[in-house]
Amino acid sequence: MGRLTGRLFVGFTTALICFIAYSSQIFVVWPWYGRVLSIELLTLLVPFNALVGMLLWNYYLCVVTDPGRVPPGWQPDVQDNDGYEVKKLTRGPRYCRTCDAFKPPRAHHCRQCKRCILRMDHHCPWVNNCVGHFNYGYFFRFLFYVNCACSYHLAIHVRRIYVATQTWENFESSEMIFIILNMATCIPVWLAVGGFSLYHFYLLSGNSTTIEGWEKDKVATLVRRGKIHEIKFPYNLGLWRNICSVLGDSPLWWCWPTVTPGTGLKYQLAEGDDPDAENWPPEDPTHVPMPEPDPNHKFSLPSSPWTYQNGSVNPYLQPSNARRRQTTRNGPYSALPPYHPDYREPEAVVPYDPASSSEDEYDNSRSGIRVRRGSEGYEIKSINREAIMQGFIEDRTREPGRYNYYDPEVSSESEAEEDPDDSVPLAAKLQS
Ligand SMILES: [Zn+2]
Ligand SMILES: [Zn+2]
Repeated sequence: MGRLTGRLFVGFTTALICFIAYSSQIFVVWPWYGRVLSIELLTLLVPFNALVGMLLWNYYLCVVTDPGRVPPGWQPDVQDNDGYEVKKLTRGPRYCRTCDAFKPPRAHHCRQCKRCILRMDHHCPWVNNCVGHFNYGYFFRFLFYVNCACSYHLAIHVRRIYVATQTWENFESSEMIFIILNMATCIPVWLAVGGFSLYHFYLLSGNSTTIEGWEKDKVATLVRRGKIHEIKFPYNLGLWRNICSVLGDSPLWWCWPTVTPGTGLKYQLAEGDDPDAENWPPEDPTHVPMPEPDPNHKFSLPSSPWTYQNGSVNPYLQPSNARRRQTTRNGPYSALPPYHPDYREPEAVVPYDPASSSEDEYDNSRSGIRVRRGSEGYEIKSINREAIMQGFIEDRTREPGRYNYYDPEVSSESEAEEDPDDSVPLAAKLQS
């Protein structure tokens, strides 16, 4: 994403927050309380503005805080096994080829930021920044305050409408418009951010990031298919310590934007006797790794723009229905009526002979009847009713002794001993 697009996203988000937060107070709540400053008005609006203030503050911190970069020349401490993620296949440390540098545990390369991000969660367009080790706390608090402020905002509006229906008072037109606009913007935000927050509450409770959530899903699939044994997620330290690792050790400051503890280069592992605990994410043992790209290989376009020889497409890439119709058209019994221009004379049907059928291949030589011999015996494919009937009739008529056949054979004797009369032309005979 370009710099300008990113800034537009941030500008749009800020404008949306400010519209929902302040237009509701100026055009809905202020006229409702008679445009006079009162204790009731303050008790309603002070908590709301506190929530909005915390929301904007955390949003600002999330946008401007560096999510965490790998210090130049950083190398994993191979001696210290604690918090050191090992790549299972090579048993070596993680390495980012794009950055040409070692990758600390839980760090991932972000294509938009063009660098490795410590404890990368995801790249968020709404904050035009990656969400990583140092700003995940602000991001999480921002989501929390969006939920609180939206709920408070909706409660004010629902109460406003309820009071109006009780007293049958008339709204001012501007008040009416802003109630509708505020509901129309706040409810979608509340639902979308609410769902997103639930997912992040779940992730935080298990001390995993969005990327690690995907990795967990992949591992669960591998376990279900019996490819690997069950592996415990190594960073899950228990609910309390998981929250502390992101929001700080003291619950009193959980809602306050505090700096995330730790350096982001090393993470506490869960105690356990599982020797594979540090091999996260586990690899699929049946997965064949892609070969290293050949740096000398040059990609070149084929000389002809056509897929198949000159000016044609690959016949095997024809849609199956068209091919099936074609088979029927060329088959023994045309699907077309005789007056159709594409109609062809039917060919003779040769009955199926298993001895002559080729192994493991559809035999198309016997027009229309497709026979295949596989590991499970003979399979006969799509033979039409007329062909069955024809085959049946032929079987019956060939039964020995059932019918006497007249074979107009020319005997060899008559050929040898030609009637002398036969060589004389008929005209000559008539004349004689
Ligand atoms: Zn990188
Ligand atoms: Zn990023």
